[in-house]
Amino acid sequence: MTKVNEKALWFKDLTANKPLLIAGPCSAETPQQVLEVAHAIKNTAKIFRAGIWKPRTRPGGFEGVGAIGLKWLQQVKAETGMLLATEVATAEHVNLALAHDIDMLWIGARTTVNPFAVQEIADALKGTNKMVFIKNPVNPDLSLWIGGFERLQNAGIEKLGFIHRGFSSYEKVKYRNNPEWQIPIDLQIRFPEVPLINDPSHITGNRNLIQHVAQKALDLNFDGLMIETHCTPDLAWSDAAQQVTPQQLNNIVTNLVQRDLINEEDSYVHQMQLFRTQIDEIDTQILNLLKNRMQIADEIGLLKKAKNVSVLQPERWQEVLVKMRREGKENKLGEVFITSLFKAIHDESITRQDHIINPK
Ligand code: PEP
Ligand code: MN
Repeated sequence: MTKVNEKALWFKDLTANKPLLIAGPCSAETPQQVLEVAHAIKNTAKIFRAGIWKPRTRPGGFEGVGAIGLKWLQQVKAETGMLLATEVATAEHVNLALAHDIDMLWIGARTTVNPFAVQEIADALKGTNKMVFIKNPVNPDLSLWIGGFERLQNAGIEKLGFIHRGFSSYEKVKYRNNPEWQIPIDLQIRFPEVPLINDPSHITGNRNLIQHVAQKALDLNFDGLMIETHCTPDLAWSDAAQQVTPQQLNNIVTNLVQRDLINEEDSYVHQMQLFRTQIDEIDTQILNLLKNRMQIADEIGLLKKAKNVSVLQPERWQEVLVKMRREGKENKLGEVFITSLFKAIHDESITRQDHIINPK
C-alpha cells in the first residue's frame, strides 16, 4: 500500500496510484518549441506545463509571451492529448486560462506570498472545477502557504494540491531554493489527502541535481513531480541551467525508485520494532540528559544573579560550539546539525537564566 491511496478521489483517478509527472518548458517561447517538447515527452509526462506570464525577480528578463501562448498550448492538447498546466497570477490570467481550456492552474511562489493576489485568483475561480495547485511562498512560512490554500478552498475549489519548490535564502549554498523538507512534511501531516508535488527544477536551479532531489521527494511520500523540460535547455529564454532535455527527463523518471510506505512482511515488521524500541529508549535518554543540563544551567543562572554577572558569556559559548563541532566531526556528525543543535540548547539555557535573573 502506498501513500497515494490516501489521496482525494479526483487525484487517484488522475494518477492511477502512480506519481504524477508534470513536465514542459519553464516558458512557452514559440509554437514550434512548445509542440516539439510536448511530442518528445507525451509518453513520459501526464501534464504539460509552460509558463505564459513569467514573474521575473529583476526587470529586463523574458516576461512570457502572454495570451497568444495559450493557443499554442491548446494545439499541444489537440495533437498529444496531454493535459495542460500554466501559472496564473491575476484574475485576468485566470479568465484567459479558463477561456482556453487549461486543465490545471498553479499559483507561483511570488504570488502565494500576497493574500490580496491569492484572493483575487480564488474569486475569479469561483464556480469552476479546475485543478489548482499552490506553490509554497518564497519565504519559509507554512501559515502563508496554508492561508493561500484556505482562500481557494473557501472559494469552493475542490481539486486542490500543493507544489513544493523550495524557499529563498540570502546565501545560496547548494540549491537555488532551500528545500527545508520539514515544512512539506508538516504540511503532509496536516493535509494527508491533498496531493503534494515536488518541483526539483526550482529547488536545485541545476539540472545535475534534479535526480537526487526528485528521489528524495518520492522517499518522503510526495505524490508527483514537476520538472522543467526543453529541447535545447541551454538556449531557453528563462531558467536555462535547470531545464533538462526530454531524453534526460526520461532517464530521471526511469531511474527513480518508488518505495512503499509500508511493508507487511513479518521479518521487516519485527526488525523495525527492534530498531524503534532502541530509538525510543535513546530519545528518552537524550531528554533526561537535557533535563540535567538545564538544571545545571539554572544553577549557573542563580550564581550569575548572586554575583551580578551578565547572562550571555560569548567566549564561553564560542568555546562550547568549537569543541562540540570538533567532537561532532570526530563522530561523523555534520557541522550544520551540531551547530543548530547546540544553538537551540544554548538558546534555551540563556532563556531560562534570563527568567531567573529577571523574574516576570
Ligand atoms: C515556474 O514554475 O516556472 C515558476 C516561475 O515557479 P516559481 O513560482 O516556483 O518560481
Ligand atoms: Mn522556471
